[in-house]
Amino acid sequence: MGSLDHLWLHFTEMGRYEAGEELQVIVRGDGCYLEDAAGRRYLDALAGLFCVNIGYGFGEEMGEAAAAQMRELPFAINWTFAHPRSIELAGEVASLAPGDLNRVFFVSGGSEAVEAAWKLARQHHTARGERRWKAIARRVAYHGTTMGALSINGCADLRAPFEPLVPDVLHVSNTNRFHRPPDESEASFTAYLLDELEATIEQASPGTVAMVIIEPVQNSGGSFMPPAGYLEGVRELCDRFGILLCFDEVITGFGRVGHWFAAERFGVTPDLITSAKGLSSAYASIGALIASERVMEPFLSGGRMYTHGMTFGGHPVQSAIALKNIEIMKRERIVEHVRETEADFRATLEPLLDLPIVGDLRGAGFFYALELVKERETRASFSDEECDELLRGFVSPRLFEEGLLCRADDRGDPVVQISPPLVAGQAEFDRIAGTLGTVLEEAGRRMQVAA
Ligand code: PLP
Repeated sequence: MGSLDHLWLHFTEMGRYEAGEELQVIVRGDGCYLEDAAGRRYLDALAGLFCVNIGYGFGEEMGEAAAAQMRELPFAINWTFAHPRSIELAGEVASLAPGDLNRVFFVSGGSEAVEAAWKLARQHHTARGERRWKAIARRVAYHGTTMGALSINGCADLRAPFEPLVPDVLHVSNTNRFHRPPDESEASFTAYLLDELEATIEQASPGTVAMVIIEPVQNSGGSFMPPAGYLEGVRELCDRFGILLCFDEVITGFGRVGHWFAAERFGVTPDLITSAKGLSSAYASIGALIASERVMEPFLSGGRMYTHGMTFGGHPVQSAIALKNIEIMKRERIVEHVRETEADFRATLEPLLDLPIVGDLRGAGFFYALELVKERETRASFSDEECDELLRGFVSPRLFEEGLLCRADDRGDPVVQISPPLVAGQAEFDRIAGTLGTVLEEAGRRMQVAA
């Protein structure tokens, strides 16, 4: 086992394997742990990719749900027809979503959900007699890889190879407060961000802007939390200018920040929510665009339709798996568990701030990032070459060697992302903090970060 003669990996420098680097093949999982073909065990502190929310231990139950559905009805489409599982799942999702976000359109993953959101926003405005097409997103944010979703991304390195992209996406600042002036208050930061957003809308000509899309807690760049009043302010600006507000909850949805949706945690209701990963805890490839009654109302008369669809959107087997996932999450009190233990998790990670190389710990629920700094005093970051040496050359392989899967990421400033399955407990928190402590201490010495 282990050859890459045929399989082409995603976002991977395949030349490394051509040059002889060992390929890790993951062969089984249980709870928060994975095992590779060589028998090594790893604590998966990234939950796959922010997605295996219930952990790896529910295969039997999920498999039975899938098998039962395959026996009953392996496939039916959701175009014109419907089938029982997509109807039931849409009802479940609507009951968990905030406000009157009651209309659910199924897709196969996060990129498709974002793609669907932008298309729906455009058609919503058209159906109301307005031609609006532009989108506003934030710098360094990741929203997927299909051409529409990629255009929304604020990650320059991912965009550049594929330009020209879908035109007319404007990018504004994200909520990274770590590198703002030290004497700036939270209220001033919020005011700065909202002023910038307002000016961007004005500059774009407000009647052309269809959608503002943001993650309530932004992953790329490292778990950027919204400052107080920010989400409320974005909501107010969208209302004032007739723009739809979409929360991209592909990561934050389904429990990651201690609520079914982050919108609920922050008390701000968007018009659209994109979700995927945690909807099935990654046991199936299913996502959903969830829209408010107001957004869908123009499509309910006048012979209009939302002109979008995919063969596999809301596939019966995937829907059955997502339904089972929600049943398990409720039965096992997984969302409550995140809320009840998030303070312990944070407290376990906090001592890492004593390491000179760790500048910041931020996030919520089971969704944290540590920002690595070259100099704590000035918060100075590493150069691109140093990041390469630090993250790819040292931190990632060392964590792997120590049996801990985390993500060392430098789409923004260098961070280590920590996002375990939502069934993790104190034993896992301790191991994550312990291993990170060892490896980051070594990293600090190696990079000559002053104590
Ligand atoms: N949106 C966000 C916030 C994401 O984190 C991701 C993936 O990580 C996506 C969208 C794209 O999802 P997918 O990889 O399922 O297409």
